[in-house]
Amino acid sequence: MSKILQIGPLSENFNQALAAEHQVTALWQQADPQAFLREQGAQFELVATSARFGLSAGQMELLPSLKAICSFGVGYDAIAVEQARDRGIPVSTTPDVLTDCVADLAMGMLIDIARRIAESDRFVRSGDWEKRGFPLAMRVSGMRMGIVGFGSIGQAIARRAGGFDMPVRYHSRRPVADSPYTHEADLQELARWADFLVLACPGGDATRNLINAPVLKALGHKGYLINIARGSVVDEPALIDALQQHVIAGAALDVFAHEPKVPQALREMNNVLLLPHVGSATVQTRQQMEDLLTANIKAFVESGKLLTPL
Ligand code: NAP
Repeated sequence: MSKILQIGPLSENFNQALAAEHQVTALWQQADPQAFLREQGAQFELVATSARFGLSAGQMELLPSLKAICSFGVGYDAIAVEQARDRGIPVSTTPDVLTDCVADLAMGMLIDIARRIAESDRFVRSGDWEKRGFPLAMRVSGMRMGIVGFGSIGQAIARRAGGFDMPVRYHSRRPVADSPYTHEADLQELARWADFLVLACPGGDATRNLINAPVLKALGHKGYLINIARGSVVDEPALIDALQQHVIAGAALDVFAHEPKVPQALREMNNVLLLPHVGSATVQTRQQMEDLLTANIKAFVESGKLLTPL
């Protein structure tokens, strides 16, 4: 039995199965988690966490025996990965198994905001259809898609865009070798070219406020922003301003700067789609993510090696 510190809860099934196999301490159930870490942190060699709960630099400091961090999800912006690297602590995530579901949702969000699906649902439910007609929407097929961040998820979105005959270009720091899609080194140029700008890059300091007022201006009054990456990638006040001033046509957002807080200004707008960070949230994918987290923990306990390290 290994002593594992679990930072936040996952599904009840997962929590129970982990506790049956290992000696697990639930940090979120401690009356004062910081005080607990100060007093008891030295006993833990393994941390189980998630993209949402992460592991801060302050927490890591209180875990002097830590040897590995196993996380649920692919985002690692909430994990102090630099400190982990400095201490030689490997970090695993759950790549690949969630790619399809996140890409599916990005397409769903794009079609929704362009064709005003959620908005027209509200229109019918409110009885407004009996009073007037519904305004025209924006075409999807054949329109241009710009993708920011062209890793597993960005490329899966591009493949789906092909089914809608959408020309695709992408922006990332380095071009992807042998990709059939055009790399655009200048983000503003990509925004100017695109009808839909889809964000699929990591969060964290390197991408903070990458989508700012000039990029939104370049996207233009007929352009839509789709964000399934991280809220930190977008300058949220600049986005609200751009939506209010009709600098861009609309936005579909699965992620926000201060989740689960969503600015009132966004909630009041009709030309935005707001989702509660559900990119990977299907029964099948969440199960696969938990299975991969479990497999990483097992591999580390048995062999000292992670299966899917960063
Ligand atoms: P990935 O395979 O690592 O791809 C990341 C891509 O972003 C790469 O193309 C990378 O290329 C690019 N990138 C990194 N830093 C950049 C920068 N500063 N500027 C521009 N491009 C940059 O990751 P993935 O599996 O596709 O996942 C991408 C992100 O999606 C995750 O990090 C996570 O935050 C988010 N996500 C969200 C949900 C959700 O529920 N909404 C679910 C899963 C994942 P270069 O290194 O060449 O720049």
